[in-house]
Amino acid sequence: MRRVYMDHAATTPMHPEVVTAMSEAMAGVFGNPSSLHAWGREARKALEEAREKVAALIGAEPGEIVFTGGGTEADNLAIKGVARANRERGRHIITSAVEHHAVLHACGDLEKEGFRVTYLPVDGQGRVSLDALSESLSDETILVSIMAANNEVGTVQPIAEIARLAHERGAYLHTDAVQAVGQIPVDVKEWDVDLLSLTGHKFYGPKGVGALYVRRRTRVLPVISGGGQERGLRSGTQNVPGVVGLGKAAELAEAELAGRARHAAALRQRLWEGIQRRVPGVVLNGPPLERLPGNLSLSIAGVEGEMLLLNLDYRGIAVSAGSACAAGSLEPSHVLRAMGLPRETAVGSLRLSLGRDNTEEDVDYVIDQVASAVEKIRSLQVGAAGH
Ligand SMILES: *Cc1c(COP(=O)(O)O)cnc(C)c1O
Repeated sequence: MRRVYMDHAATTPMHPEVVTAMSEAMAGVFGNPSSLHAWGREARKALEEAREKVAALIGAEPGEIVFTGGGTEADNLAIKGVARANRERGRHIITSAVEHHAVLHACGDLEKEGFRVTYLPVDGQGRVSLDALSESLSDETILVSIMAANNEVGTVQPIAEIARLAHERGAYLHTDAVQAVGQIPVDVKEWDVDLLSLTGHKFYGPKGVGALYVRRRTRVLPVISGGGQERGLRSGTQNVPGVVGLGKAAELAEAELAGRARHAAALRQRLWEGIQRRVPGVVLNGPPLERLPGNLSLSIAGVEGEMLLLNLDYRGIAVSAGSACAAGSLEPSHVLRAMGLPRETAVGSLRLSLGRDNTEEDVDYVIDQVASAVEKIRSLQVGAAGH
């Protein structure tokens, strides 16, 4: 059976060059980068070369990159670190209702520490309202955290405008750019952000390693304390092979960015047109244009996303659903709920996310299989209704 992976927003396969770079580092670079001897210096050199590559990908200085154990950790460091370091200036944080749980739950933890959090609403396409942001900002606001691109529906937020509004009121801006990095151009100077999270495994690098960009002079406290590695912001001996892999993935992403985006967008268009032609009652979730090139989120009337996901898995195809069965009933995700999708549409949502390894043949196979799976599910439902 043909196997097609179309769930790149969940994770990506490692680029073969990343595997090679990591294997070489694992076999040959075992020193502790904090050691002063030759073994340590070699590891330090590998670490700093990777730091330069990650910095180059997002337009930062190498000294502004803190390596972390992934995107979730970077989000926690940004949000808790800034809040705790600036609590005497104010106790108010602003985020949005469609953030990743790494951001939402970090904010929830801070509410228990006495911070007040505003969760901005979004419009029907998942975009945060700049008016609502302006109204929510006050002299008490120390941090605004808004994702660069949404992981479920691919909506890209106007980060530069959000930064301008936050800075006018003296608040820091953090952006979770985990989905954006490697898919669309990301430049911390152009966006004028103070903190930015990224993770290797969403752009063909390794899992469990990521980075937080921290602009110079930003006041942040560490979440993990210890030996003072990573300028004291993330103690613990660095994951040298992982960081080397992250650096290689960053280098490749920078070189291939435009080509990857064109490839994904062309396949997505082919996929969307094919599904529209073959599947009655399908609608697009999220904006038609301001979205990640590889993301296609759609809803199919009368077909539960999770059932379709399992049916496609049986046909060798990997996708995600925008709803999960919680306690026996199908619950739409917080993102689809915040976008105000009607319940029937939300539970029928499916996310297909394309990547560099997908081909036109993959897309055509998926169109065929989605059409036949939907027909099958619908026919079963009609049959069941007849009893
Ligand atoms: C995947 C993801 C994360 C979490 O990153 P991990 O490296 O898996 O911890 C955070 N935010 C967004 C938007 C993501 O898509």
